[in-house]
Amino acid sequence: MSFHLQPATAPTAILSALAQEQHGLIDLLQQPRKLSHAGRDFWLGELHGQPVVLALSKIGKVAAATTATALIERLGVQRIVFTGVAGGLGEGVSVGDVVVATDFVQHDLDASPLFPRYEVPLYGRTRFQADAALTALLFKAACAALASEPSGGQEAGAVQSFPGARVHQGLIASGDRFVSGAEESRVLRDALMAAGHPVLAVEMEGAAVAQVCQDYGLPFAAVRTISDRADDSAHIDFPRFVDEVASRYARLMVEQFLKTL
Ligand code: SAH
Repeated sequence: MSFHLQPATAPTAILSALAQEQHGLIDLLQQPRKLSHAGRDFWLGELHGQPVVLALSKIGKVAAATTATALIERLGVQRIVFTGVAGGLGEGVSVGDVVVATDFVQHDLDASPLFPRYEVPLYGRTRFQADAALTALLFKAACAALASEPSGGQEAGAVQSFPGARVHQGLIASGDRFVSGAEESRVLRDALMAAGHPVLAVEMEGAAVAQVCQDYGLPFAAVRTISDRADDSAHIDFPRFVDEVASRYARLMVEQFLKTL
């Protein structure tokens, strides 16, 4: 039960998919306290004077939905913000860029011909919106984070740097598949586009968390740094990016975001 938490003090949940994405955030946490529930560790504490819960969604839609539900039901969070990495699908969405989600689609959901392709049965909708106000703050935070990196994405000692990195805003597709082939990624992009869903990036959790937040009437926003182009070299680009860059980007963006909350 979550009734012990007053709305004014209810924390913001910061979700990451991978431990590497979360490391930098746990290091910054003030008065850290760990709570284990449903096979997950939840880190409670303060970041920039704001009460937060840091959690790993785990990978894939079901795992992410479980984590989101636990955050809402058990920890009484007030809003959920996802920071993670994704494959770039849209034209001009490059490794090192950042995509802030306006809405989400489940690219592997297909109950046709009973329901239109991609529609979530019994919800009467295909896309789930991110919260507009939180998303605007995240967009600002992402721009500030990139600008704070010397020469647009470079940091002294950083192994990878991304001069000219851009922040995009648009549709993110989620599904239980690591998309790692140029042809596979083209087919996915074209099929979504043909159905009226011009997608910028692909990942494995966002749409599930968006659906849970919609069910509970909780604001949700997500930012994804592009780790790979979901093409034939995605399996090489992804782990390299996650190990070298993801944690730094997540930390920068969350810090900027919490300052404006
Ligand atoms: N065994 C790997 C699994 C990572 S799955 C590991 O733990 O290192 C990839 C993760 O990054 C997911 O959380 C997904 O949301 C995101 N992601 C990054 N690039 C992706 C792509 N090309 N396709 C799908 N998900 C991607």
